[in-house]
Amino acid sequence: MDDINLIELTDQFLERDRTITEERLPHFYPSEARQICEETGEVIGHCLRASYYRLIGIERTDPPNARAYYIFMLGNLVEAFLIERWKEMGIWEQDNVAFYDREYNVSGKIDCFIRSVFVKRDGVYRMRPRNQSPIIGVEVKSFYGYYATKEIMGNQSQDGRPKTNQLLQAFYYAERYSHRGIPGFKMAYLARDSVQRREFNVVPTVTSVGGEVQRTRPRVDGKIFGNISIEAIRESYRLLDQALRADTLPARDYIRAYDKATVEAKYAADGVSKSKYDAWTRARKPCDPNVRRMHKDSIGDWQCSYCNYQQHCWVDNDEAGEEITLDQI
Ligand code: SF4
Repeated sequence: MDDINLIELTDQFLERDRTITEERLPHFYPSEARQICEETGEVIGHCLRASYYRLIGIERTDPPNARAYYIFMLGNLVEAFLIERWKEMGIWEQDNVAFYDREYNVSGKIDCFIRSVFVKRDGVYRMRPRNQSPIIGVEVKSFYGYYATKEIMGNQSQDGRPKTNQLLQAFYYAERYSHRGIPGFKMAYLARDSVQRREFNVVPTVTSVGGEVQRTRPRVDGKIFGNISIEAIRESYRLLDQALRADTLPARDYIRAYDKATVEAKYAADGVSKSKYDAWTRARKPCDPNVRRMHKDSIGDWQCSYCNYQQHCWVDNDEAGEEITLDQI
């Protein structure tokens, strides 16, 4: 029996090279929604360059490891578990609804639609006639860890809120289906470690800027997110389309390794954990300036650390034109 390590073997199976892969239509994904905030110029959401690499078929230099596959699997199990319960409760309408947005070449899949047949009055849920109950969309998300919990669940000093990239995705769905009589989408969150639960109601809302320009923005539990708009998200899809047609590599939206001053500032503002900061401090040592290399303990934007093309983007790709400096390790 001790000649087989079952976990190790399974991990290797998950990480194996897929020998048979099929070309897929170059659609954009709602999970890759991204935008530039009008007022601040800040980029939020998925990296445009990462989408570009996927669409032109660059081989993934940093494919998901076994740990990532287990995380996907747990996320899928949470979604399947909840959908089964909604079926038992009699509120399920449809799940895994695929759609294609021809105008913006976006294809996606909605986790679930439920019929809102229960209404809470005076603290008690009561049923209303099915034909008077609106259908609403649901996007299920799972999370874990200190920073995600603080962001989603909130604490004494800050309100909880959906993760930004996930809100862009749910808002994209909500806006799309608002034209089909669906009043909004719920984002249902469940923590994989503490099993804390939280939901947010995302409703597309038309706002005006300076009394003239109209923008459709997400209202989340009554609060307008003024830095997000469907127009800005669509503009990013348009830029991606343009980059593909012109064969032009988009600029990086995120940074793989912050310089020392940025790491120190983020650590001081509780944006970096002590264990990561300690590992980064230990790892900072002189290295050969002629060698372009990444260090596993460098600290940067999380989008880069989860990116399938990290090595290609920052190290292999000479087109990138930017060197990692000694200061960044
Ligand atoms: S490594 Fe970072 S900047 Fe490069 S494509 Fe990925 S997310 Fe974008």
